[in-house]
Amino acid sequence: MSTELSDPHRIQEYIDRQMNLDLLRFITCGSVDDGKSTLIGRMLYEAQLIFDDQVASLQNDSKKHGTQEGEIDFALLVDGLSAEREQGITIDVAYRFFGTDHRKFIVADTPGHEQYTRNMVTGASTADVAVILVDAKQGVLVQTRRHSFLTSLLGVKHVVLAVNKMDLIDYDEEAYQLIVEDYRSFSKKLNFDSITPIPLSALKGDNVIKRSSQTNWYKGPTLLGYLETVDIFAERRDEPFRFPVQWVNRPNSDFRGFSGSVISGGVQVGDEIRVLPSGQTAVVETIVLFDQELESAVKPQAVTLTLNKEIDASRGDIVVKTNQPCEVSDQFDCNLVWLNEEEGYVGRAYWLMLGTQRVNATLSEIKFKYNVNTLEELPARGLALNDIGRVTLSCDKAIPFEAYDFCREMGSLVLIDRFSNATVGAGMVNFALRRAQNIHRHHHAITKKDRARMNGHRGRILWLTGLSGSGKSTIANELEKRLFLKGRRTYVLDGDNVRHGLNKDLGFTNADRVENIRRVAEVSRLMVDAGLVVITAFISPFRSEREVARMLFEKEEFDEVFVNVALEVAELRDPKGLYKKARQGDLPNFTGIDSDYEVPLTPDIEVNTGQLDLEACVSKILGYLEDTE
Ligand code: ADP
Repeated sequence: MSTELSDPHRIQEYIDRQMNLDLLRFITCGSVDDGKSTLIGRMLYEAQLIFDDQVASLQNDSKKHGTQEGEIDFALLVDGLSAEREQGITIDVAYRFFGTDHRKFIVADTPGHEQYTRNMVTGASTADVAVILVDAKQGVLVQTRRHSFLTSLLGVKHVVLAVNKMDLIDYDEEAYQLIVEDYRSFSKKLNFDSITPIPLSALKGDNVIKRSSQTNWYKGPTLLGYLETVDIFAERRDEPFRFPVQWVNRPNSDFRGFSGSVISGGVQVGDEIRVLPSGQTAVVETIVLFDQELESAVKPQAVTLTLNKEIDASRGDIVVKTNQPCEVSDQFDCNLVWLNEEEGYVGRAYWLMLGTQRVNATLSEIKFKYNVNTLEELPARGLALNDIGRVTLSCDKAIPFEAYDFCREMGSLVLIDRFSNATVGAGMVNFALRRAQNIHRHHHAITKKDRARMNGHRGRILWLTGLSGSGKSTIANELEKRLFLKGRRTYVLDGDNVRHGLNKDLGFTNADRVENIRRVAEVSRLMVDAGLVVITAFISPFRSEREVARMLFEKEEFDEVFVNVALEVAELRDPKGLYKKARQGDLPNFTGIDSDYEVPLTPDIEVNTGQLDLEACVSKILGYLEDTE
């Protein structure tokens, strides 16, 4: 393990994580001129954390920009970038680190403008506490509501209502109480555990760090006093163990461990764990931290776990305790913040990243979008930049997840444009709409490999697609005969054996066709897993469904065979008299007549049955199979 110690990145990571153990993250939110920057500057300054040279430069800047007539302008300290100073607004999340004897802090300072929702999402998603600033002269504004809604949505449980500029209203208790009541009544609809109002003046320093003599009627904590003592760890102690595998650590043949960070709860040597989504179980044998062996590990430690037996896991899998299961699903109800200039529409497909997992996902429904100022729910067909919607996301495979409210790390996801790689949305999972049974899936001792060895060949699928009458069934039957004679274990799935049984509840509407193909693909997957050479003969007219089918298989298992023929030729053959019926209007939704056939763009094999006879078509496919055995 000494190689790890010599890696400076890993050491730094270790130090960072240790620091996190008693770290409070908070976010400040306020409108322009509420005094946010002044407040943070005041805290940093009074906590004596500004280095002398920074103070000197600040005094110079204050004279130049001089909004406080020669006194130090604390806002300049915080409004970091000079470009921002010139614009007079903060335009990005600025993170600042400071510490007192009691605690270390990271404060995310985010701007108040609506167009900067993105920054606020970034800042609040990791915050334990939100300090929401209100100008005592103005009270609760629309912006205050929006900030509060967003913070609540992003899972911040503790709010400080910082009623600032108390000096401008002569420290009037009554005016202060009215603001507090107004805020409490509005925030009833939100999901906060505690709201702590504090009357203060960032400019004069009242109740920021020192208790103010101007507000003798106020008995609560100062802002820093509150931040130093608020207990945000209590709720974390009982969290279940969650450990996303970052990499499989195998320095030599004697050592194999799963490395990653504990993102929730803790684990001990001897605990029985389960790897998701595969569902395999094992017992933790050692917990390694650099060159030490630990008895236990807790959030947020980065460790390597070794197990009592070899099990498969790879990057993105989640290790949990067997008695603290985690949900696995492929369909979620989420709150989604749209972050892209290009609108998001129902039906669009994106990459979905949740933790270290990446899957294909479709935005399948927008239930409504929020009016973030009033919390009203509005009907919506699309999501524009900064919109927040309640949506359904459907993934092409099930992934382990957690409700955001329960575990932020495993409940937050981003949507990524598959072509530009831009992050287009940030989502918070509310719950699963369809639960996968993977957690309980039995892990079989006999694998696909074992069956292939027994059969003398591997399982695979030939997915025949083409118009009705193109020759799919004829080719499938002939192929099967020839393969059978060669000792291959085969099975043909076609309309005849599927439509009368498994799929007899389905018709020929587009939705039913999609479901028909999905079921055929799933059944084929089981057959391929069982070691068979499966030949399917379905029109399967839509590209997207054929892609969905392909995605169920390993790359080398699936081959798309385009059985091509001109529509006129197929119609002339009309082996089942279906074209005739369709032309007479007795068979609605017939492919090629009044329903589309989407020609494969890159089939693995193509045979044209209008040009080649049956024998030639079959030989071509058999040749391909031999070449790719
Ligand atoms: P599908 O299953 O694609 O609807 P069928 O196999 O039921 O099509 O029907 C195809 C018809 O075309 C059959 O009558 C078959 O004899 C004829 N045919 C003519 N040439 C070929 C060929 N090269 N390959 C397959 N079928 C052919």
